[in-house]
Amino acid sequence: MSFEASHPPALERSKSLRRYNTLQLDATAEYFVEVTSLQQLQQLLGASPAPLALVLGGGSNVVLTSDIPGLVVLNRILGKQVVAESDTHLELVVGAGENWDELVRYCVERDLWGIENLGLIPGTVGAAPIQNIGAYGVELESVLLWLDAFNTETGELCRFSRATCRFGYRHSLFKEADGRKFIITQVAFGLSKEPIPQLSYGELAQKYENIDSKDIKALSVYQSICDIRRAKLPDPLHTPNVGSFFKNPIIEPHLFADLLRQYPSIPHYLTADGAIKLAAGWLIDKAGWKGKRVGAVGVHDRQALVLINPGLGSAREVLDLAQKIVADVERQFGIALEVEPTIYPPARDSLRVVPIAPLTEG
Ligand code: FAD
Ligand code: NAP
Repeated sequence: MSFEASHPPALERSKSLRRYNTLQLDATAEYFVEVTSLQQLQQLLGASPAPLALVLGGGSNVVLTSDIPGLVVLNRILGKQVVAESDTHLELVVGAGENWDELVRYCVERDLWGIENLGLIPGTVGAAPIQNIGAYGVELESVLLWLDAFNTETGELCRFSRATCRFGYRHSLFKEADGRKFIITQVAFGLSKEPIPQLSYGELAQKYENIDSKDIKALSVYQSICDIRRAKLPDPLHTPNVGSFFKNPIIEPHLFADLLRQYPSIPHYLTADGAIKLAAGWLIDKAGWKGKRVGAVGVHDRQALVLINPGLGSAREVLDLAQKIVADVERQFGIALEVEPTIYPPARDSLRVVPIAPLTEG
């Protein structure tokens, strides 16, 4: 990978982060720096005026709840390199600061398969492993071969295999306490030159039902994904949001049996380990929140899982709305929703880990 020549990064003080997070929350970083190479990152963390507080990519999965004492690093480490190739596969190493959707387009334009269903997800390549991004039946872990991450405590560069990333549903080691000290610098992808379309999700399945999979191009699937997403999801440039605000709850079959008796039309999906995944957006809709506004903030009218901030409200308003939704869903369905984006600082993340409560009468 050809990283840019190293020169000391420019450190800024008291930097507003409003344009660096897609909810457009107004938080100020004590120190802020944009890093474009691994060498810059190493130099910087060796001589930083303040401890590292937060790494940002596109800011599309963070809720900044207050000003940030310490250093905020904006990751802009770029580069793409093919490191191995066979008749059927290609291994591509990509800098963590590359834009995710641009990478997807780069791949589908070359008819490389594996990440086409993950098109149009905002953010950077380096943040994609953090929550093992997923959409339309594909998760990042299916194509990730390894990644490099800088240990900010020891200064070492460490290589993680797919297995050591501890991927789960919208989860990885890097979301856990002992994983937060790592800054991901580059990611290696294993892509297929042969068609491997994943078309199990409703609208995709319908669109391709009469087409032989060998006649499908990765670019076509990508374009279909973009059309579906644009019709349903708010563009953060016009309507500030962080995508799904809650994870889809995964519950035990015996709890689900009770729910199904009460709500026979409840959407549900069997997971590989025999649990039941529910659609959080459906639960929020049924609890009466879809399309509702509360002051500057609200719930998107086409997907209730997305909280929006059209009036540029505060983090307090966003979290208060989230709290009300969690309480109503819990009251009606006995399901405790878990927040998906990173709440920063973590101490304010009072919504994050909540056990599934027993079912109450709806
Ligand atoms: P940021 O918001 O900048 O950071 C997110 C977290 O990762 C933070 O904790 C941050 O500290 C950490 N982080 C960022 N970069 C690094 C790094 N290099 N090393 C270590 N830690 C790092 N997500 C999905 O999974 N599927 C979707 O379909 C999807 N659709 C979305 C649609 C919309 C409209 C929006 C707004 C969001 C959507 N998201 C989706 C959420 C989000 O886009 C992804 O999680 C994305 O990967 C976040 O990238 P980012 O660069 O913006 O991360
Ligand atoms: P949707 O089609 O309205 O479906 C609602 C939920 O049902 C989805 O979240 C999805 O779970 C699940 N689902 C639907 N069909 C399924 C199937 N065949 N098998 C298993 N699960 C199924 O969802 P949507 O809101 O329009 O989103 C479409 C895709 O984009 C989803 O995969 C979603 O995760 C992803 N997305 C994610 C974000 C984010 O910020 N995380 C934002 C927008 C869209 P899964 O979520 O587990 O796939």
